[in-house]
Amino acid sequence: MKIAAVIVDVPSRQTDRPFDYKIPEKWEDVLQIGMRVVVPFGTRRLQGFVVDIKTYSDVKSLKAIEAILDVAPVLNEELLRLGQYLTETTLCFAISAYQAMLPAAMKAKYEKEIRLVDEKYRDRLHPNVQPFFSNRSAVSWKELENTNVLSRLQKDVQNGYLEVIYHLKDKAAKKTIKYVAFSVPEEQRKKAIESLPANAVKQKQLLELLLFNEHLPLKEVLERSGASHASVKTLIQKGIICEYEVEAYRDPYGQHHFAATQPLMLTEEQQQALEPIVNSIKANEHQVFLLYGVTGSGKTEVYMQAIEAVLKQGKEAIVLVPEISLTPQMVERFKGRFGSQVAVLHSGLSIGEKYDEWRKIHRKEVKLVVGARSAIFAPFENLGMIIIDEEHESSYKQEETPRYHARDVAIYRARFHQCPVVLGSATPSLESFARAKKGVYQLLTLTKRMSENGLPAVSIIDMREELRSGNRSMFSRTLFEKLRERLDKGEQSVLFLNRRGYSTFVMCRDCGHVIRCAHCDISLTYHRVQQRLKCHYCGHEEPLAYSCPSCGSEHIRFFGTGTQKVEEELTKLLPQARVIRMDVDTTSRKGAHERILSEFGAGKADILLGTQMIAKGLDFPKVTLVGVLSADTMLHLPDFRACEKTFQLLTQVSGRAGRHELPGEVVIQTYTPEHYSIELAARHDYEAFYQKEMALRRFHGYPPFYYLTLITVSHPELIKAVSVTEKIADYLRAQLSKEAIILGPVASPIARLHDRYRYQCMIKYKREANFTKILKNVVDRYQQEMSQGELLITIDTNPYMMM
Ligand code: ADP
Ligand code: ZN
Ligand code: ZN
Repeated sequence: MKIAAVIVDVPSRQTDRPFDYKIPEKWEDVLQIGMRVVVPFGTRRLQGFVVDIKTYSDVKSLKAIEAILDVAPVLNEELLRLGQYLTETTLCFAISAYQAMLPAAMKAKYEKEIRLVDEKYRDRLHPNVQPFFSNRSAVSWKELENTNVLSRLQKDVQNGYLEVIYHLKDKAAKKTIKYVAFSVPEEQRKKAIESLPANAVKQKQLLELLLFNEHLPLKEVLERSGASHASVKTLIQKGIICEYEVEAYRDPYGQHHFAATQPLMLTEEQQQALEPIVNSIKANEHQVFLLYGVTGSGKTEVYMQAIEAVLKQGKEAIVLVPEISLTPQMVERFKGRFGSQVAVLHSGLSIGEKYDEWRKIHRKEVKLVVGARSAIFAPFENLGMIIIDEEHESSYKQEETPRYHARDVAIYRARFHQCPVVLGSATPSLESFARAKKGVYQLLTLTKRMSENGLPAVSIIDMREELRSGNRSMFSRTLFEKLRERLDKGEQSVLFLNRRGYSTFVMCRDCGHVIRCAHCDISLTYHRVQQRLKCHYCGHEEPLAYSCPSCGSEHIRFFGTGTQKVEEELTKLLPQARVIRMDVDTTSRKGAHERILSEFGAGKADILLGTQMIAKGLDFPKVTLVGVLSADTMLHLPDFRACEKTFQLLTQVSGRAGRHELPGEVVIQTYTPEHYSIELAARHDYEAFYQKEMALRRFHGYPPFYYLTLITVSHPELIKAVSVTEKIADYLRAQLSKEAIILGPVASPIARLHDRYRYQCMIKYKREANFTKILKNVVDRYQQEMSQGELLITIDTNPYMMM
C-alpha cells in the first residue's frame, strides 16, 4: 500500500504538519509528490499538497485521497524545500508558503452544501426546514445562511438527518477556443460539398474555407463565410464537420507589437561588469553580484546580455522588477530582445492571465520571466540566473504571510541551482552595500551615464525662505520660472509629490484639533471630488465637517498638499499648460497606468504630476525638468529607514531628467535643506550618504549592524494588548542572550487600527542560537487564545513596515 503525506489547506498551528492518506490503487502510479489533491478532513473536503509518498504510516485507519487536481506536480522538489525554508525563516505555516508560490487561480475555494442523508429522513425534518428540501436533496449554504431556520437545521444535522458537505471549486479554469474541422475523410470532402442543396451558399462557402485549412476557429469561420450558427449546427448534424475546444492562453500583450532589438555594443565599464557575471553563469557557480550603477548607466543592457549567456547555456532566468516600474516600457525592452521566450507576471494581470503566464513557465514554453515580487517562485527547473532590479525597493518584502523578502528567496534558489544572483541599483540598500564592502557580495560598478550630459544639475530651494519673502504658493519662484521656460520651449516636466488625495488632513486653526478616523489612530484624508473624509487604512468615510467637532469653531481647514490641489493651483498659475495627473485615484482602473504614460510619451501633455508611481523606470526623451514639491514628506516617518528611503526616492526622481540628448535639471523644494539625505541626494553622492547613514545605524543599533524582529500584538481591549505584549517581552528577556536588546512594550506608531489597539515589541540581536524556536514558543503559548478569541500576534523577522 502506498501512502501520501499531505499538507492540508488549513492555516493553523495544529494542522501545520503532514497528514497521512491512503492512495487508492488506481492512482498509485499516477500520484506524485508536489501534486494537489482533495482529501477528507473531519467533515470537510480540503485541498492539499502531497509532500511525501511512503509505504508506512503510524496511523491505523487511514482515509483515502478523493481526487487528484493536477496531471503533473505543480511544486517541484526544490520549491517544496523552499517552502520549508520559508516556514523556518518567516515563521509561517507550510500551507501559506506553498500557496504563495502558486497563482491565485490555483488556490482552492470551498462551497458548503446541506444534504439529506437519506430519503427516509425527509419526513422527519423539522416542518420549517422541510420546504427547502421539498423537491431536492441538497441545498446550498448560501441559500440557507440568511433564513430563520438555522437552529432547526442544526438540530436536524445533530439528529443525523442532514449532513454538511464541502465542495471544492477549482478556480483554475482554462480558457478554450472553439474550432471546427471536417469530420469526413479527405477524399469525401468535395463530394460532401456538392451534395448540399444549391441554395445553401453560405454552408458551401464555410466548407470551402475548411478545405484549405486543417481546422479553423469557429469565430473566424463564421466571419469569413458569413454563415450563421444555425448552418454550423446543421453541418454538424449531417456529420460533415465537427466542433471541439482547444485550450488557449490569455495573452495580455496579445495585440501589442514589440519591435525587435539587437544587443548594443557595450562600453568598457559595462563590459567589465558583464564579464564576471557571465563567467559565473558558465562555471555554474553561485555568487551574488551587486551591480551599483547610477541612473541611466545602462544596467538593463548588462542584464540583457547576461540573460543571453544564460539562454545560450540552455537555462532559464528570472528578472524581478518593482511592481511600480513594471511599465510597458520595461516589458517592451525584454520582449523586444527575447520575444516569445518571455513571460510577464504582475498584479495588473487578471487572475486568469496570471495563471496562463504561470502555465507557460510550468510547461517550459518560455525561458525568461519578468515580474514583480512573486515571480521569484517561477517554477523553472534549470535556473541559470536571477536578477533583482532596483534591489533596494521595499516592495520586495511581502507584508503579509509569508513575510518573505524576494532577495532571500533569490539567494536560496540560486544556491540550489548553483547560479548567480545580480542585484542592481543606483542606490543600493545599506544591507546590500555593506555586504558588498565586506566581500560577501561582489561589487560591480557603473559610474558613467550613457547620455553625454551626465547627471542633471540639482537646485535645492528652501521653502521657509519663500514663505518669508511672501510666496505662499506651493511653487517656489525658481520652480515656477523653470516650468514656464519648459512650456515656452515645448519641453516636458515631471512634478513629484509623495502624497495622494486633495489635502492630507483637516485641522481646526483655533484649537488644533485634527479629524481622525473613529477606528484607527490616523488622521482622515479629504477627497475633494466626493467631498468626503476617508481613512486610508480601514476605508472608513464620513462627510466633510464645516465646524470643529471639538470647539465648534468654523476655522477648520485642509492642511498638506495632495496631487489634486497641486493640479488646481498649476492650472491657475499656468493656464496654458496641459497637465496629466497620475496617482492612486487616476490609475485604479485596469490599463489606466499605461494609458497615462503613453499619452505623456506621445507629447499630449506638458507636465506629468504624480506620486511615487512616477519616480521609477520612466524614460522620456523630452523631459528636461523634474520638480520635487516637498522632499520632507517621508523624512519624518517613524521608521529607521526614513532617511534612506528619502535619499533613494530623490535620487530616483532626479534620474528621470535629461536621460537623452537634452540636458536635464532638477528642483527640490524642502523645509529642511540642510538635511544630509537631501543635500547628498542633490550632489548624487551615494558613497557619502552610505558612510553617514552607516554611522547612524551603528550608533542606534539598527540593520545592518543588528537583525530586527518586530512583534505586534493587537486586541480590541487596550489592557489585553498591553499585558500580552508585556508577557512576551518578559519571556524574551529571560530566554534570549544578554546581547539581545528588547525594546518595548510600546504602542505601535499607529496605535489603533480597525478598532484594535496595537502594541509592539522590537528585538535587536546579532546571533541567537535558538531564536526561531523561542519565537515559535511565543506563538504556541497564545495559539489557543488566538484561534478562539480576538487576540492577534504577528511576528515579522525582517520588518520593513514599522507602523
Ligand atoms: P539604467 O538601467 O542603468 O537606468 P538603462 O539601461 O535604462 O540604464 O540605459 C540608459 C540608456 O542608455 C537606454 O536608453 C539604453 O538603451 C542606453 N544604452 C545602454 N547601454 C548602451 C550602450 N552600450 N550603447 C548605447 N546605448 C546604451
Ligand atoms: Zn480607519
Ligand atoms: Zn477646534
